[in-house]
Amino acid sequence: MITYKFRLYPSQKQEIVLNDTLEACRYVYNHMVRNDYETRNDMNYALTELKEQKSWLYDYNSKMLQMVSTQVAGARKALKELRKKGYDAGKLKFRKRDEHNTCIFNQSGFDIDAPNNTLYLDRIGRIKVRIHRSIVGTIKQIAVKRRAGRRWYACITTDNNRRMIGSILKPIDFRKSVGIDVGIKNYAYDSDGNATPNPENLRKLLKPLVRANRKMSRRVYGSKNYNKARRWYQIVHERIANRRRDFLHKLSTHYANKYDVIFLERLRLNNMVKNHHLAMSIMDASWSAFKQMVQYKARVMMQLEPVNTTMDCSRCGKKVPKSLAVRMHRCDGCGLAIDRDYNASLNILKKGLQLLELEVPMEHREFTPVEILMGSRKQEANALRHW
Ligand SMILES: [Zn+2]
Repeated sequence: MITYKFRLYPSQKQEIVLNDTLEACRYVYNHMVRNDYETRNDMNYALTELKEQKSWLYDYNSKMLQMVSTQVAGARKALKELRKKGYDAGKLKFRKRDEHNTCIFNQSGFDIDAPNNTLYLDRIGRIKVRIHRSIVGTIKQIAVKRRAGRRWYACITTDNNRRMIGSILKPIDFRKSVGIDVGIKNYAYDSDGNATPNPENLRKLLKPLVRANRKMSRRVYGSKNYNKARRWYQIVHERIANRRRDFLHKLSTHYANKYDVIFLERLRLNNMVKNHHLAMSIMDASWSAFKQMVQYKARVMMQLEPVNTTMDCSRCGKKVPKSLAVRMHRCDGCGLAIDRDYNASLNILKKGLQLLELEVPMEHREFTPVEILMGSRKQEANALRHW
């Protein structure tokens, strides 16, 4: 499954219809919440009954209204997750006018005309859309989203058979393995020695976002000024999200195309994020998004438990403890002196290959992980010379 996000450019008239459609969905959503139906079946049965009384609901695509039950179920699940994490999540709330921003067309009720850049939606019409990437696979679902009250997007989900077929036919080439360390200084550092710095534009945008957030929290909740500040916050937030997504798509595609096997570390930032500010939680979200993208784009992606990857010497295995401020790994055992993130990525690769040795059946291999481990020792020796 891949989701593409395209900007929509509805006419003024279409925008009125879109807003009106979201209102209808919100009406259904709140009806489901009020009556606290348990299953999606119950909800959709209730919807049929509701339509008998409120015949204006017939003006909307019926499958789309049914998908509201999926949204209710999703919101409930999110609450449950929060509760599991120990938050006092409370009950599912009614949605206010600007809180219901998505309607979903599943399987039917839409049609995309890519050459002409239009998206047809049942009962809404033909909307201008900017299709900036080609769509691969069969379209399963289109979610229409309103952002910051005035921007519209279509999130198009396709199944993605092509990649799967490719990975069955071709054996995995373990020489094309890479370990990637993600961090704050360098967004990614890979075991071939390539560093991708954190994009400046994100850091630059974070400041206005923090400022907007502070402004909002100082105002009286629900007041006119609060809503103004909130709108501004949403706009900045969306701008960051778009640039970040762009950056992550490029980076993950690069790795998925270049390598057959990609190792990443499971993130260890629970405690980091909880007592941290906005900036950190955004980094966290972006690392998870990166992983998800790598996962669906790459042939093999494995997540490893983070055990001493920054501490261990990638060449001799000696423990070299270092604080976050120390940027270089210097081993007095074997003399290796390389960037700390590079050292970590080499450890990730090594651990990953050791794990895979156990898990991938011989017939699916072109080269065995052990052969590669030998090769990577040579690489490290070369790397040392550079430093
Ligand atoms: Zn060493």
